Amino acid sequence: MVLYYEQNPSDAEVKARTINPEVILLDLVMPEMDGLVLLERLRNHEFTKDIPIIMLSAVEDPHQKAAAFALGASDYVIKFPDPVEMLARLRHHGNARSLQIRQHQAEIELKQQRDRLEETLVELKLRENELKSIFNAALDAIIMMDQEGKVIGFNPAAEKLFGYDRDEVIGRELADLIIPPQFRRQHRIAIEQHANKSNDINGMTRRLDVQALRASGDVISLEIAITAVKSHGRLIYTGFMHDVTERKQLVKSLGDALVAAEVANRSKGEFLATMSHEIRTPMNVVLGMSDVLLETSLDIEQRQIVETMHRSGKALMSVINDVLDFSRIESGRFTVSNLPFSPRQVVEEIVCLMRMTAEGKGLTLTEESSPNIPEAILGDDGRVRQVLINLLGNAIKFTRQGQVFVRLSCYSEVAETLLFSVSDTGIGIAPEHTDHIFKHFTQADSGIARHFGGTGLGLAISKKLVELMGGRIWVESRLGQGSTFHFTLPARLVPATALVTAPIKTASTSGRSLHILVAEDAPENQMLIHAYLKKTPHCVVMVNDGVEAVARVKEESFDLVLMDIQMPNMDGYAATRAIRQWELEEQRQPLTIMALSAHASSSKREESLAAGCDGHLTKPIKKQTLLDAIQRVAESISEQDLVAAVRHIPQGVPL
Ligand code: ADP
Repeated sequence: MVLYYEQNPSDAEVKARTINPEVILLDLVMPEMDGLVLLERLRNHEFTKDIPIIMLSAVEDPHQKAAAFALGASDYVIKFPDPVEMLARLRHHGNARSLQIRQHQAEIELKQQRDRLEETLVELKLRENELKSIFNAALDAIIMMDQEGKVIGFNPAAEKLFGYDRDEVIGRELADLIIPPQFRRQHRIAIEQHANKSNDINGMTRRLDVQALRASGDVISLEIAITAVKSHGRLIYTGFMHDVTERKQLVKSLGDALVAAEVANRSKGEFLATMSHEIRTPMNVVLGMSDVLLETSLDIEQRQIVETMHRSGKALMSVINDVLDFSRIESGRFTVSNLPFSPRQVVEEIVCLMRMTAEGKGLTLTEESSPNIPEAILGDDGRVRQVLINLLGNAIKFTRQGQVFVRLSCYSEVAETLLFSVSDTGIGIAPEHTDHIFKHFTQADSGIARHFGGTGLGLAISKKLVELMGGRIWVESRLGQGSTFHFTLPARLVPATALVTAPIKTASTSGRSLHILVAEDAPENQMLIHAYLKKTPHCVVMVNDGVEAVARVKEESFDLVLMDIQMPNMDGYAATRAIRQWELEEQRQPLTIMALSAHASSSKREESLAAGCDGHLTKPIKKQTLLDAIQRVAESISEQDLVAAVRHIPQGVPL
């Protein structure tokens, strides 16, 4: 752009500043202001000082020319030269100006870049200082290593942890310093492999639990976070590590302590189970004997004494049973069976069983089952009964007047789940006690044991049993107004036809006298069985071990053998096998042999059957259980006799 403006020099000056022309043509002689004066003013102004100015003069005056050049004119032209020359001059000065402007812009950009660079440098310096202070102040040891495995950074925490000075490790191979000898080869191979695929490794972060060596030779456990970053084409590893030796030792000793505690707990459980079992056996004899004694003629005082003995014995037996159950559950030796049963029938039976106790206290006991309850489900009816007996027992125990109500319904919160609820109008439980009453040996408050007795084990056992069966137990209660205990049970449905209907009991279908051999080494158990069978028509022969039992069976004809499993000389399993072998060899009818065992588990039961026994009775045996078992044998023998008799009726004889 060319500014040619000769009308008004002041205007020209302002214009020149604002439009920034590439060249200014300035007349030397102008009306208001001399061209040289304007030239000087333009040269002195920041915006116009570098713009090429061509002076136009009417005359060739060397002094004026010299003055113009002295004041900064770029050219001096006599008006007007040939347009070609004028254009050439303008182009020349214009190009020079453009070049100058470009240079100027380039300089400005360069300066800006330099400024930015400087800012970046300051920033970098700041970051470096920050990193340095983090590196130096970090509690974790930080080690930096290059692609060859040489140490390039070692912070004070690393110095402290490994016992080396920074200066003695920089430039040395890390493997030789802190890596235990057995891992060095593996470490070097890994570094070599990483170097070959550095692009894949770039940015990698890894956490490792490793062992490391200190300068002293001690081995320590470290937790390390490693990052690998590629810089200038080479990998740089930074490892942040902290010593977890103590923590590991602590965890290990805690683990050892836990194992020891578990072993101790198991031993305690086993001790409890054994002790309870050992107490149960003689206690059962005491109960059995007092039962038998009550059947004899006693005067009023004697009867009261025996009844008190019997009641106390039963209370003790129930505590022992609870302890035994609890210790079995605790030691994990408790299993639940999975057989079809009718939940409705279980509720009805338990209510029927407990009704006398409730009515004895003046309470009404009722039950209700929703109509949509399944006929049969899979589960352990024995354990469901046990929980219901405990809840009902408590409801009756803690209710002075009013009623106890049992309800069986479908649980609306969870599909295919039954809800058993036992409600009472008793003393209730304060909100702060509703959780901990489910813990073992815990009662709502200390006055409970004084007023109502109990051990605080029943609910703990019920909770464990319900949970073993896949359910949940909880209580809703208001102090002084009553409680409702609920428990759920998964309803795994089976067809009603799966229920095994118990044979309908008929009043003593057989009064037949059996010849019974009892193989039992404990004299008190022998006495008890004697006492149980004393008033029955059965004839009992006692032997003390398996050898005697086998010999006696070979000598005499018996209808039933009650075979204790644990006996000296020859145990019950061996004796049963020997008897079965003899029967086979002699082609004899198999004799009914009932195992008497202290163990109720299904595996023990199966073991008895596998040895050749026909049934399995769990000790301590109750009188009624024994009589029922004998009755069943008597009935089956009567049936067999009848069949045999029918077979022997001569043809043609009317029946
Ligand atoms: P125990 O009945 O032998 O004391 P449990 O474990 O069966 O032991 O019960 C623990 C405690 O829970 C009881 O001592 C009693 O304080 C409270 N409890 C249980 N059932 C009821 C109930 N139906 N009403 C009021 N309190 C109850």
